[in-house]
Amino acid sequence: MSMLIFERSSAGRRLSILPEKPVEIEQYIPSECLRRQDLDLPQLSENDISRHYTELAKRSHGVNDGFYPLGSCTMKYNPKLNEAMAVLPGFCDIHPLQPLASIQGCLQVMAEAQKYLAEITGMDAVTLQPGAGAHGEFTGLLLIKAYLHSQGQLARNKIIVPDSAHGTNPASATMAGFSVINVPSDEEGYVDLDLLQAAVGDDTAALMLTNPNTLGRFDKNILQITKIVHDAGGLCYYDGANLNAVVGLVRPGDMGFDVVHLNLHKTFSTPHGGGGPGSGPVGCKSFLAPFLPGRLAMEEEDGTYGWLLPEQSIGDVKAFYGNFLVAVKALSYILTLGADGLAAAASQSVLNANYLMKQLSASYDMACDGLCMHEFVMSLEKLKQQTGVSAMDVAKALLDYQMHPPTMYFPLIVHEALMVEPTETESKETLDQAAQAYLEIYRRACSDPESLHKAPQTTPVGRVDEVGAARNPRLKFGD
Ligand SMILES: *Cc1c(COP(=O)(O)O)cnc(C)c1O
Repeated sequence: MSMLIFERSSAGRRLSILPEKPVEIEQYIPSECLRRQDLDLPQLSENDISRHYTELAKRSHGVNDGFYPLGSCTMKYNPKLNEAMAVLPGFCDIHPLQPLASIQGCLQVMAEAQKYLAEITGMDAVTLQPGAGAHGEFTGLLLIKAYLHSQGQLARNKIIVPDSAHGTNPASATMAGFSVINVPSDEEGYVDLDLLQAAVGDDTAALMLTNPNTLGRFDKNILQITKIVHDAGGLCYYDGANLNAVVGLVRPGDMGFDVVHLNLHKTFSTPHGGGGPGSGPVGCKSFLAPFLPGRLAMEEEDGTYGWLLPEQSIGDVKAFYGNFLVAVKALSYILTLGADGLAAAASQSVLNANYLMKQLSASYDMACDGLCMHEFVMSLEKLKQQTGVSAMDVAKALLDYQMHPPTMYFPLIVHEALMVEPTETESKETLDQAAQAYLEIYRRACSDPESLHKAPQTTPVGRVDEVGAARNPRLKFGD
């Protein structure tokens, strides 16, 4: 068991880079505001600190360590080039309050990122302000609400959400003050058109469609879906967090959608996870653009760049310009791949997922038949009934094969679900190794189920008490 940094502390040990007292603090801060006791910080040498964090880093698994097919998260390799762009001093060492004349390049980056993302989604305007996917959903729904209210359509207060939607969709609709109507999927995993027709009406504000949906399927009836909703007077929202499967190939705007959000921290080259900065830009058709949140970067007539607050703006949804450096990486990614490269990445992600799905379907049951998009969902319900080995056991066993488990128990509409998203950045060799591991685990489930209940055996931490951790969390040192 590794130690906490506080346990490594030894009184008096430190790294002395700075002089003891660089300024006479008392000169600047009123004495009653000064700390009376020293902060209880760990006392370590630089060497101790470096070793501590290196040890912790070795105990975790990232995209740089190995296969990481976490469904719905697009944990792909992000080119280092885009990181290098985002740390250029002209992008990093700026302040949001400095004069516009001194940040012309940054405004240009934002204006161009907005333009390309609008082109990619088939929308007329884009805001970069939302900080994540769910935040983009919330923003998009506020746009819809502001528009409906401007039209006097106050009775339109329901959002229709298919049961194959990402869980954030109904949550965002509720947060935005709507009530949610759930529409079940049909046998093949598509929106049931008859049930959708029955659900729409004078109270429909909008439909929120996750596409490809959480089963990894592109809804083949998508044009009929948007028509049914529009004919009933509602708007159509596209959850574009899964855009990696279709970027450069089809555009939500061409399929009848009025609003879309993207996850730059999935599709567009920002590492995803660990709660790091993300970005969930929202694109919309021109009739919704007057309501967009603050600070749209724009090119003025004289060729300089400034920013614009749309006339009927819903206000700021985040401070200043959103997570600007994420937009820098996205623009760098878009420009280096080009239109053909983006489309090729999407096609490869779909090919990789189907290649792996085909191999695994030799043993595992898939949640639905036919081709998948960038990810697929397996159901281990039968395996569990026959052997007692659960989706959790399989996920834990994969850790012993040096790979990250897939997403577990999601989507909720599939029992004992495992959701696998290999991404376009994995080689055929990696996919073949992964397939071997999954198939070997399946054989072990049939011959020696007990060994899987005890997995993982080779990781620094074995099977953890997840119920205990959730029910009786120890959140602070010393508890
Ligand atoms: C990841 C995801 C979201 C939520 O994005 P966050 O950035 O985690 O808020 C929404 N919808 C889908 C389909 C997603 O995969």
